[in-house]
Amino acid sequence: MTVKPLYRRVLLKASGEALMGEQHFGIDVSVVDRIAADIAEARALGIEVGVVIGGGNIFRGVAVASKGGDRVTGDHMGMLATVINSLALRTSLNKIGVDAVVLSAIAMPELCESFSQRQATAYMNQGKVVIFAGGTGNPFFTTDSAAALRAAEIGADALFKGTQVDGVYSADPKKDPNATRFERISHGDVIKRGLSIMDTAAIALARENNIPIIVYSIHEKGGFGDILRGGGRCTVVTD
Ligand code: UDP
Repeated sequence: MTVKPLYRRVLLKASGEALMGEQHFGIDVSVVDRIAADIAEARALGIEVGVVIGGGNIFRGVAVASKGGDRVTGDHMGMLATVINSLALRTSLNKIGVDAVVLSAIAMPELCESFSQRQATAYMNQGKVVIFAGGTGNPFFTTDSAAALRAAEIGADALFKGTQVDGVYSADPKKDPNATRFERISHGDVIKRGLSIMDTAAIALARENNIPIIVYSIHEKGGFGDILRGGGRCTVVTD
């Protein structure tokens, strides 16, 4: 039986750390291949997919700032890290026959195209997976904010936040055995309760643009597709 997917166009946010697998740094290609397979499954359902990847597996700007260095330079380094991860995902997608393009918020024409909302939308309409690299292109932001921003720009029906756990919990489930998982919670409550699923700026931007955030485990093979078909385990953040 074919199931009608819940969404037409989605934005997937994966942290850089998700790409490390069991490693302590860098990229585990087999993990990137698995995430690529999940995206291929979404494409097979006819869903248009945009992706934002973080850079925390390689570099975060605060690492420079915390040692007295220039935060802006540190953030530039962090944004470059997201480009490395984005290129890794593109090549994993291409390997399995999924047409994908990297659009960077910071121009580096020898490596990939530069981001423009118009070009991104045109590629998505053509069915290409669009990987948004370079975060927002500005220091002092995060790739969570970039994900909410790009989701709004491409008119995504939902922002999927792939995390280490299968939803939003009342407390950290790794530390508190009594933590309970929300099936549904509002953007406002996430902010009010200080539940750390994404930074506040990202959640506020999603709320302003009526974009639900679907929090799920990126480590669950096929989990993305299950949710897109209406099943799976996740928390839906919506007002
Ligand atoms: N970054 C930035 N501006 C952005 C997005 C990211 O300066 O719009 C930098 C920042 O230094 C950040 C790093 O890139 O620490 C990696 O991004 P992030 O920490 O969001 O990655 P994740 O935690 O998702 O792996």
